[in-house]
Amino acid sequence: MSKTESKLPSNFVRDIIDEDLKNNKNEGRVHTRFPPEPNGYLHIGHAKSICLNFGLAIDYNGKCNLRFDDTNPVKEDTEYVEAIQRDIKWLGFDWGEKPFFASDYFEKLYNYAIDLINAGKAYVCDLTPEEMREYRGTLTEPGKASPYRDRSVEENLDLFERMKAGEFKDGERVLRAKIDMTSPNMNMRDPIIYRIRHIHHHRTGDKWCIYPMYDFTHGLSDALEHITHSLCSLEFENHRPLYDWFLEQVEVPANPQQIEFARLALDHTVMSKRKLLQLVTEGHVTGWDDPRMPTLSGLRRRGYTPESIRNFCDRIGLARRNSVVNIAQLEHAIREHLNKITHRVMAVLDPIKVVIENYPEDQVEELEFINNPEDDEAGTRMVPFSRELYIERADFMEDPPKKFFRLGPGREVRLRYAYYITCTDVIKDDDGNVVELRCTYDPETKGGSSPDNRKVRGTLHWVSAQHAEVIEARLYDRLFTKANPDDNKDGGSFLDHLNPDSLVRLETCYAEPYVKTFKPGDRVQFERKAYFCVDPDSTDEKMVFNRTVTLRDTWAKKKKK
Ligand code: ATP
Ligand code: MG
Repeated sequence: MSKTESKLPSNFVRDIIDEDLKNNKNEGRVHTRFPPEPNGYLHIGHAKSICLNFGLAIDYNGKCNLRFDDTNPVKEDTEYVEAIQRDIKWLGFDWGEKPFFASDYFEKLYNYAIDLINAGKAYVCDLTPEEMREYRGTLTEPGKASPYRDRSVEENLDLFERMKAGEFKDGERVLRAKIDMTSPNMNMRDPIIYRIRHIHHHRTGDKWCIYPMYDFTHGLSDALEHITHSLCSLEFENHRPLYDWFLEQVEVPANPQQIEFARLALDHTVMSKRKLLQLVTEGHVTGWDDPRMPTLSGLRRRGYTPESIRNFCDRIGLARRNSVVNIAQLEHAIREHLNKITHRVMAVLDPIKVVIENYPEDQVEELEFINNPEDDEAGTRMVPFSRELYIERADFMEDPPKKFFRLGPGREVRLRYAYYITCTDVIKDDDGNVVELRCTYDPETKGGSSPDNRKVRGTLHWVSAQHAEVIEARLYDRLFTKANPDDNKDGGSFLDHLNPDSLVRLETCYAEPYVKTFKPGDRVQFERKAYFCVDPDSTDEKMVFNRTVTLRDTWAKKKKK
């Protein structure tokens, strides 16, 4: 994306950057970063941060690093590292030559820790986790000093070295910063900066058995990368004094400024990585890329475009107060984009057979269809018409009320770009279910208009039976019925609010032959139904289409009722 393409509205972060540039702070550089922990897949909330950080770099001719904050080997995996890169690229952003990894700084961070010890600003502590919690105090009571707080520099250097050498078991000792056990900010009460973990790291292997804590690593990594503006979500606001403290105590090449913003929350979904992982591992969804997941890989499989997600992120704006965004806004963004770009194709999802009795038995006509009325370049295609067709079961009523403008006994409707037909007979099975409609057509109405200007109220889509492709349609809907599935004051869990109808599979639908030209990932509008996207589960025998979004917001209607 070029600078001119971005039309981001102003916001408080941009105001700060503008002011910094005016004062020639950081020699006029703007350098941001997106710092995921590789312990899950990216979701729509991350997209907000990605669009913000990479967007600022584009707009200010600066840089944005992708940095994996991989300090916790227990939960991390290269699968996530790869998926995260795939998703950021797909969103349309570029991190330059190479991604960065906090684990590349383990040596430097270790040396910073030694510097702190030498300066009398860090000590090895032998308290158990329970004791440490006790000593830490509470929000209303100050903490008290660990009995190990006054160890000599020599003893600390020796113990820390032995921690590194693997002499101690997990949890036996930690290295702590020596700050202030009475600080009203709990993060400043001698936080742990190194812990022992005898565990394999996805990049450094078994080289280390001590790992730096996230809080120690994060700000220093920013500094090592010469980041100018370190944007993070609001919950890190009271970690900022700690990050700044580390930066003051050791020699760093730059002084990043941390600015907090409100994270994105969406209704009818969950965004916590722990809960998303639980949905996957417990089989409530088929995987991280299940089209119902708020992950970028799920949204992609569902049929969302990168443009629609970027537009959505621009529109929700940036604030310093947490709020919940209605998922209808995201759906609006994709509807708007798909309306512009998709070809309109006829598919009958719940079919009923129509036989046109006065149409010649072996005649086939090729009728011309406009691919996309919103796009002159999209051209036209030929669609076969013949004596036996499928129409949508819901487009027929045996005893229709006045306001029903579709097909009924004795009623005339238009078949899209084809002919007017009139229903003459209704065929039923032994149980009284309608199984077939007999109709006649008016040969004078070819193309869908009558020479005598006869009015018909309804226009139906249709598929020629002998030419039909059998396809599967997967109708996806919101994953949770409750707007805030995390709200469980009376006990229970977010899983109690899973929408039982979030996936409806229709295994025998019929589509016009044109669908065969689409490949997995391609998007289409099935006329009068919804937008769909070809799923990778498609085979040569049977294509699978995922419903991306309905043509209109059906939930808004439900709410009004
Ligand atoms: P965890 O609970 O595992 O730390 P996280 O959501 O913070 O989860 P990270 O991988 O640490 O995940 O996030 C990377 C970046 O994305 C962070 O800078 C974080 O602030 C930002 N981010 C995460 N979730 C959101 C969200 N919902 N809205 C905006 N930014 C987010
Ligand atoms: Mg995080």
